[in-house]
Amino acid sequence: MALTGLQIFKLLPKTNCGECSVPTCMAFAMKLAAKSAELSSCPYASEEAKTTIGAASKPPIRLVKIGPPEREVTIGNETVMFRHEKTFVHQTALAIALPDSEPLAELGHIIAEAREYSLERVGERLGLDLLLVDNVTDEMAPFLELVRTAAGASGMGIILRSSNLEVLEAALPLLEGRRPLIHAATPANAEAMAKLALKHKVPLVAQADSLDELAALTAKLSKLGVQDIVLDIPADNPASTLQQNTIIRKAALKHTFEPLGYPIINFVSGRDPASVVADATTCICKYGSIVVLDTFQLELLLPLMMLRQNIFTDPQKPIQVDPKVYPIGEPGPDSPVIATTNFSLTYFLVSGEIENSGVPTHLVIVESEGMSVLTAWAAGKFTGAKVASAVKASGLESQLRKRKLILPGYVAQISGEVEEGLPGWEVLVGPGESVDLAPFLKRQVAG
Ligand code: SF4
Repeated sequence: MALTGLQIFKLLPKTNCGECSVPTCMAFAMKLAAKSAELSSCPYASEEAKTTIGAASKPPIRLVKIGPPEREVTIGNETVMFRHEKTFVHQTALAIALPDSEPLAELGHIIAEAREYSLERVGERLGLDLLLVDNVTDEMAPFLELVRTAAGASGMGIILRSSNLEVLEAALPLLEGRRPLIHAATPANAEAMAKLALKHKVPLVAQADSLDELAALTAKLSKLGVQDIVLDIPADNPASTLQQNTIIRKAALKHTFEPLGYPIINFVSGRDPASVVADATTCICKYGSIVVLDTFQLELLLPLMMLRQNIFTDPQKPIQVDPKVYPIGEPGPDSPVIATTNFSLTYFLVSGEIENSGVPTHLVIVESEGMSVLTAWAAGKFTGAKVASAVKASGLESQLRKRKLILPGYVAQISGEVEEGLPGWEVLVGPGESVDLAPFLKRQVAG
């Protein structure tokens, strides 16, 4: 049960020594209650405080790690129902299912492509996270062959799915040290699956047909010593999935109902591509911690990965790039200088258009708290003085023969202030839209 700030304060030393980087014990208690500090920051906390506060600050949704350390996937530990309340923490892991009934050579190609598939968007790498090796044949040999292929070729985290315990038992030693997730414990095989998970120190999926059964199953697994659990409750349609995911999240967060305080795995099977994207979107937006697709199609993955990136970005912290000078192309002493804000999207649009123009340019990114140009100007974060100071701090003045600075068109009003702050510079106002930047730069070079 969560403790209030006052209840936590009563357990602290009350000396206000400030060693926890907060001036008073009361302020520290408030931060603990808001889960924005950790008790370990107070070196004087008593054993009683550690026990009581530690138990109360246990995350309502367990953190579960899957996969080898170099490509570890972390899920769970979420604290809010809606991302605008704070932020969603660990993004949904995307997985593809590999049925062992398919030809191994074909699956080998898919695995290689899945491993390599990666794209960059606003400075982040997007890609697939997990492979689900599916024992649809219920036979040992094809499953083990596929596990070997997936493990050897990919380096990605693996989910092993089989209803045959012997098959799982034989596969797990092949993945020693790679922490696969095993699917699944059911009310019928809970003891044996718990034993297997504990023996190999791997996380375990708990699967049941109803929420009551699922809660009873996780309580049993927990009693048997399995703590790293992922929930699976099969549903007939996306509406049921949405409903069950929401009930589980609400039970964990609003009612601190421990038996459902685990991340969720959802399976999306293909009918037509639009339905796959729609169903997977529902799961990504509403509480699926792992979404398994039964098809590997890049055109389906792209929108899902972009959606996921947007959903799991902290709404209070716009994605930003470091404020500094970025040389685009190979700019020299006669190349122009462009200044803009450190909002990632702005940076990538502007740098992309500079590349398109073929005009090597020094791009000065001004610290503006991750805001776009007009917003930053309106908030006083992208002023003439700030731009001039960023250009001066960049050290470009000593490297340039021609001192030509181009400002975004939407903030033409700051050009006078920039000129005052940068004597000896020619200050130009560029286009408002980045799409017009390439022709503008070409004209500057030609002129
Ligand atoms: Fe209080 Fe501990 Fe912080 Fe010191 S370090 S102010 S005792 S909470």
